[in-house]
Amino acid sequence: VFNFAAGPATLPENVLLKAQSELYNWRGSGMSVMEMSHRGKEFLSIIQKAEADLRTLLNIPSEYAVLFLQGGATTQFAAIPLNVVKPEDPVDYLVTGSWGDKAFKEAQKFCKPKVIWSGKSEKYTRIPAFEGLEQSPDAKYLHICANETIHGVEFKDYPTPKNGILIADMSSNFCSKPVDVSKFGIIYAGAQKNVGPSGVTIVIVRKDLIGNAQEITPIMLDYKIHAENNSLYNTPPCYCIYMCGLVFEDLLEQGGLVEVEKKNEKKAKILYDAIDESNGFYRCPVEKSVRSLMNVPFTLEKPELEADFVKEAAKEKMIQLKGHRSVGGMRASIYNAMPLAGVENLVAFMKDFQTRHA
Ligand code: PLP
Repeated sequence: VFNFAAGPATLPENVLLKAQSELYNWRGSGMSVMEMSHRGKEFLSIIQKAEADLRTLLNIPSEYAVLFLQGGATTQFAAIPLNVVKPEDPVDYLVTGSWGDKAFKEAQKFCKPKVIWSGKSEKYTRIPAFEGLEQSPDAKYLHICANETIHGVEFKDYPTPKNGILIADMSSNFCSKPVDVSKFGIIYAGAQKNVGPSGVTIVIVRKDLIGNAQEITPIMLDYKIHAENNSLYNTPPCYCIYMCGLVFEDLLEQGGLVEVEKKNEKKAKILYDAIDESNGFYRCPVEKSVRSLMNVPFTLEKPELEADFVKEAAKEKMIQLKGHRSVGGMRASIYNAMPLAGVENLVAFMKDFQTRHA
């Protein structure tokens, strides 16, 4: 099937086949990766290679630590304020969708966050020009969600905050294109969209931000503990890290993120063009300049046909096209691992469905 789920999402077939081929016996060790001690030489080689390949892919400067953590991106909503600010500190949130809003709400427990702009009243369909926004004078950081998975709104250029560092939730566009890591204090991402199975969260954090955690910070949320222990303070999600490592290898083999971005742009263009050229039968509510390359939400002119659309698509082996329950309509998530053929099939189906129902 072509799986358009928002996450956990489709993974590259060659990566899954490779994992299958070494499932019982990883490279002659006689063990599955699932059975290895996380302190043994085999697993150490796996996590070290995964980190090295990710550093190559994203060109991560040496002043940044790479952490493989648990708890999902949601845990980082709390870990970030706990690690980098004090309870009385002002911080800014630019809220372009539900995930940014959740991050803001969690931060309220640990510092003094302010929403400097929210797209909620416009149903999260655009991103304002950053220059026109007023930041809090002493803000310690500006938090953004680089790609709002539910609303399909993606930053194309990242803001440069006047006050404080830039922090981004990149869960749903991580490794989908090159990023200048040096613009950010922290980048974090749950793996389960573009780079692996759920269970591991990747945090890329500038080293000078580590070591200032609030006193109440649980040990499992303290970046210093994880950085000092190379993500091996406690038992890490070993198999997930291994799978991410295979995906990073695959992305490098594809020519790196410049090539990956070209493929993603091509797929997204085919789908958005089909929507825009349907004479209003399909509609994407997101402003064109910030449409996501990863998550494409669309509605039908006749909402009563939506259930049929999803059902008929599933019969044609295109699954998980129903939109998020909070926004309705349809959503096609077309992450790195969605083949071009999947998008072409979807567009052909959309045209056929329109002909039958227009
Ligand atoms: N941030 C974004 C942009 C997401 O898409 C998601 C999940 O879909 C999350 C955060 C929450 O991630 P997790 O379920 O790993 O906690």
